[in-house]
Amino acid sequence: MKIQAINGFKDILPETAIRWRYIEECARDIFERFGMREIRLPILESTELFVRSIGEATDVVEKEMYTFADKGLTMRPEATASIMRAFIEHGLHVQRPVQRLYTIGPMFRHERPQKGRLRQFHQLDAEIIGAVEPQIDAELIAMGQMLLDTLKIKTSLEINSLGCPVCRPPYKQRLVSYLKQVSGQLCDDCRRRTHTNPLRVLDCKKSTCKAVVAAAPSLLEALCPECDQHFLAVRRSLEMLAIPYSINRFMVRGLDYYSRTTFEFLTNDLGAQAAVGAGGRYDGLIEELGGPKLSGIGFAMGLERIALLMEQQAEEQLPVESMDVFVATLGEKSLTACTQLTHELRRQGVKTAIDYSGRSLKAQLKQASRVQARYTLIIGDDELERQQGILRNMSTQEQDLFDLSGSHSRQAERLAAVLQESCCQGSPSTISRNP
Ligand code: ATP
Ligand code: MG
Repeated sequence: MKIQAINGFKDILPETAIRWRYIEECARDIFERFGMREIRLPILESTELFVRSIGEATDVVEKEMYTFADKGLTMRPEATASIMRAFIEHGLHVQRPVQRLYTIGPMFRHERPQKGRLRQFHQLDAEIIGAVEPQIDAELIAMGQMLLDTLKIKTSLEINSLGCPVCRPPYKQRLVSYLKQVSGQLCDDCRRRTHTNPLRVLDCKKSTCKAVVAAAPSLLEALCPECDQHFLAVRRSLEMLAIPYSINRFMVRGLDYYSRTTFEFLTNDLGAQAAVGAGGRYDGLIEELGGPKLSGIGFAMGLERIALLMEQQAEEQLPVESMDVFVATLGEKSLTACTQLTHELRRQGVKTAIDYSGRSLKAQLKQASRVQARYTLIIGDDELERQQGILRNMSTQEQDLFDLSGSHSRQAERLAAVLQESCCQGSPSTISRNP
């Protein structure tokens, strides 16, 4: 029997992993510019945590969680609940009144696997806890937008407000009575949701439900004055920061804990999987989980979907793997000298490849191209004798003599200097991408 990866769980091969790392490095860089600090969390949590935070009548809790039934444990389907659990458990609000936290890692949901939808997928998750100002909402959205812009991913931003415990319940009642009137035209799921989670009906993807919902009462028009003002101030802040957005009054988000601002970054380029990232404010969540009365706002972006969108970009724009130098050996003595020089180059931070098999120069040059080496340093026994190797620029094919006098450490320093000079993108050893 051939053993294969299970459906919905995917290997990330090196060619893809390099892009993932590029995305993660951009995310860390940008998040940290906004004062975010990384938090790392366990993958397994008490089932109760997700039921209490995400909500019982949500798709995630009803059908998508991987739960060990006999132990009351669940593989996390998202990160916000876990961050809140850790925040409360360690009293992080005592340390800093406003906590800005991010985490990157795998999430698990039992869904039907398809392009951009997996059972183990990965999120970049960012949260700001302890601040209520609408500028915070705009700042967080702007951070997400900055990341997508940096990755050259085109999305549209939609925002909405879900109100608060003052204005949402009366609205819900009005919505339910409307939905009951039109229940004959709703899908089975939505007829059920009318009683369990009526807001979810608003974002049903079925065209028949969409038509019915278009005429439903609008929550935006039913906001209390505080929520109304908050939403207006978020909009003004976004405009001030020149972040384009549109309002989608039917966006409700799949998790119960949201209040006030919600938002999604959407794409048309992934078929049915339209959301690249999404998030919102959750003013009651921390208290609900037994913590202090603090509010927060956060978003999660899907790494798979970002990576898929990057793959659609022009080849020359994609981050590439590369080696700095391939050391080509020719002869017995050369092999020893090159082995030592290679080790010294690596010690000095140069990405170096070598082949010990004694193949022909032609074969070694071919291998140098395959590993995307920028230079090949050719050192045969003759070159050793003359203390002059040949340094070949693999993109221009130009060759120069390379001084092999002095210790391996001196030689490595000289080569590192050549690399530094010829490299227009900072350190030669980081993942690079054409501007
Ligand atoms: P969708 O409507 O696509 O199911 P969602 O509302 O369930 O998304 P969130 O819980 O808001 O998604 O998660 C935030 C992001 O995580 C999504 O925008 C998406 O990029 C990513 N994501 C969610 N579920 C999956 C999945 N099963 N596979 C891959 N990425 C996912
Ligand atoms: Mg989903």
